[in-house]
Amino acid sequence: MPLPPDFTHTVTERFLRYVVIDTQSDPASPTCPSSEKQKDLGRLLAAELRAMGIADAHLDAHGYVYATIPATTDKHVPVICFCSHMDTSPDCTGKDVKPQVVRNYRGGDIVLPGDTAQVIRAAEHPALAAQIGNDIVTSDGTTLLGADDKAGVAEIMDAAQFLVDHPEIKHGTIKILFTPDEEIGRGVDKVDLKKLGADFAYTLDGENAGNIEDETFSADVATITIEGVSAHPGFAKGKMEHAIKIAAAIVDRLPKSSCTPETTEGRQGFLHPIAISGALEQATLGIIVRDFADDGLKEKEILLENIIRSVMTDFPRSTYRLEIKPQYRNMKQVIDRHPEIVDYAMEAIRRAGLRPVKTSIRGGTDGSRLSFMGLPCPNIFAGEHAFHSRLEWVSRQDMEAAVRTIVHLTMIWEERS
Ligand SMILES: [Zn+2]
Repeated sequence: MPLPPDFTHTVTERFLRYVVIDTQSDPASPTCPSSEKQKDLGRLLAAELRAMGIADAHLDAHGYVYATIPATTDKHVPVICFCSHMDTSPDCTGKDVKPQVVRNYRGGDIVLPGDTAQVIRAAEHPALAAQIGNDIVTSDGTTLLGADDKAGVAEIMDAAQFLVDHPEIKHGTIKILFTPDEEIGRGVDKVDLKKLGADFAYTLDGENAGNIEDETFSADVATITIEGVSAHPGFAKGKMEHAIKIAAAIVDRLPKSSCTPETTEGRQGFLHPIAISGALEQATLGIIVRDFADDGLKEKEILLENIIRSVMTDFPRSTYRLEIKPQYRNMKQVIDRHPEIVDYAMEAIRRAGLRPVKTSIRGGTDGSRLSFMGLPCPNIFAGEHAFHSRLEWVSRQDMEAAVRTIVHLTMIWEERS
């Protein structure tokens, strides 16, 4: 069944309405959601969903929005969930976002009006080349935009409106889930999968239009605690072993020309220090470990421990403790058991008028954790670019293509069931 040509024109309006609500998450906060203001968007979304006629839409105490679009078919179709996160990154302010729309982009650099030092340069953003003639949304340069992931939120909302308005379109039960705190790695901490009741899910939180991502990094975090030997600095000769200096020596011996975020791409992993603190007697070093394969993760952890051991030989009376904690695993291990999830998404992208491209994510998503919690969940493009920065942008046309993809995907699941 062909879709009406222009039904997605409302997605940008929605997006512009959502990005002005500050939803920055806060890694220092122990609460869920980590910042109460994320509920401002959650409340609005729940109210908009109810206004569409989705009766069970609600925001829960932890800041999650749940909603159900009832099935329009008698067939037995798996329950599909579409999921996006409402928070924005703590790396860049999201307060007082003033979105700008560059209509009919003609190519070249985009200077942001609120801070003209902020320039989205065509040379540094090659994805802009595919956007000639499109309308590009940016911030004014003083904040991030929040396309990560309010583009995904707006796309799911827009698709929901269309499905509710067009009961003649056949689909199974559709679940909607909006999560808080994805950017601080806690996006699914308090999700109630039983209540959600979905068989498969898709996050809408990817970059280029047409992308479908079924792989994420596997991730561990290593914490190294060093016990040095303290002495009065005036009388320390031959006695003192400085914990801060030991920690610094470990960082210094980490690989420099490979195995770092700044020297790797594609399928290469890395070791990356994220925190260091301490005093003379004790210091703590946090290092994240990333790789697509569990073997690669292990290899890097062995390398790390060898570096620590070799540094410690220079400090014979000091000790260390190395603790490695898993953070998340490559979701491909789970998704490959249900190849139709990705196949149908590829077909939906094709029907939406794009060329599907299967890629992997150099990071984690809510989907990687959901997959291991029993809800297989690849990631579909939302159109967001240069996220976590003041140069963030998204195009109207890509958001519209994502809405079409969602609608087609619900129809394909019904057709093939
Ligand atoms: Zn995101």
